[in-house]
Amino acid sequence: MNTQELVALCKEEFNAAFGENPQKIVLSPGRINIIGEHIDYNHGFVLPAAIDKYVCFAISKNDTKDCHIISLDLNDEYQFNIHDKIEPITKNWVNYFLGVFSQVQDKIDSGFDIVFSSTVPIGAGLSSSAALECGFLFGLNHFFDLDLNKEQIAKMGQKAEHTFAGVNCGIMDQFASVFGKENHVIFLDCDTLDYQYAPADFGDYTLLLLNTNVKHNLQTSEYNNRRKECEAGIALIQNKHPEVKNFREATMEMVEDLKEEMGDVVYRRSKFVVGEISRIQELVKSLEKNDFENVGKLMTATHYGLSRDYEVSCDELDFLVDNVLLEEGVLGARVMGGGFGGCTINLLKKTEVENVIEKLSKAYQEKFGISLTPYQVSVSEGTHFYA
Ligand code: ADP
Ligand code: MG
Repeated sequence: MNTQELVALCKEEFNAAFGENPQKIVLSPGRINIIGEHIDYNHGFVLPAAIDKYVCFAISKNDTKDCHIISLDLNDEYQFNIHDKIEPITKNWVNYFLGVFSQVQDKIDSGFDIVFSSTVPIGAGLSSSAALECGFLFGLNHFFDLDLNKEQIAKMGQKAEHTFAGVNCGIMDQFASVFGKENHVIFLDCDTLDYQYAPADFGDYTLLLLNTNVKHNLQTSEYNNRRKECEAGIALIQNKHPEVKNFREATMEMVEDLKEEMGDVVYRRSKFVVGEISRIQELVKSLEKNDFENVGKLMTATHYGLSRDYEVSCDELDFLVDNVLLEEGVLGARVMGGGFGGCTINLLKKTEVENVIEKLSKAYQEKFGISLTPYQVSVSEGTHFYA
């Protein structure tokens, strides 16, 4: 489904449910990340971009105190009153809305109606959850004159995820969804939130996503564990080197030096983080020089770090990366997003895309009995109103 069709569907279903056209349409994108995985919560840098896959909200303010949200994709709906006590509930998807709503409840003076649907695959590492949080808040911001800037929207989206979805995520996903710019990647300093746009230009090469269509349910618990393991790692480093403020200022020598005290797990997590922070800085320089071969090499190094040291990969992802790298014209590949399933991101020659999709789909089907879903995405604009 393309974006026009997605918008038309939401409008039509809004009409069917509420008997009139929606006052606004919000599009909120998913994101890719070239490099810098599990780094946003470790005070490093990341290199994400918004993509042309969106959560679409058809939304109107109404003149009651009731809020009515219809999820087309899950064929479900939820209603609440603006004066209700807002707490997390057992319906997962609703929590993303409630987590946002609870932060602005005191400024909401009327109900609203929403019909939403999405082309961001759910739980595939393209950050459908951030698109949901940020798109909804973007809509509320307009209708209720909340006067929130983009950074506030991103931060409040993140807070909703922490408090209502139970995922202790960093800021990257929400930041990318809100700040995305057509044909540009965002070089984001996750510590200061300073950012720069760089052209998303890979010359004769392009990015291809391959969705494993698996999501192992370790994702949330292991994500939160990784945060704790990293906190333990940096605490040991700071113990010996009090001048080190965070992982960005740590060196590989410091990590090696503390290998025994850290123990195997914390040592390997710390090694990945320090390595990844230096890889991303090298990758940005390679991108400036159009050295795509090195960009690819660094992406692949990230994958093996994530797989062996950070341990957030899985058989399906490793299989795709190992096998795609055997194909002609493929410069690099890695798991993207939280891990344990979802997509790989691959840098390859434009002319090889069809060949790679065909070969990998066949091999993946034979090995796991699951079909692979490829996405050729364009880098697009952040959360916005559909004109
Ligand atoms: P990701 O952000 O990588 O896609 P998450 O597990 O963080 O995966 O978020 C997925 C959750 O977000 C879903 O389980 C659901 O609760 C909610 N969600 C995302 N997209 C939709 C959608 N189109 N309709 C309803 N809920 C959605
Ligand atoms: Mg998410």
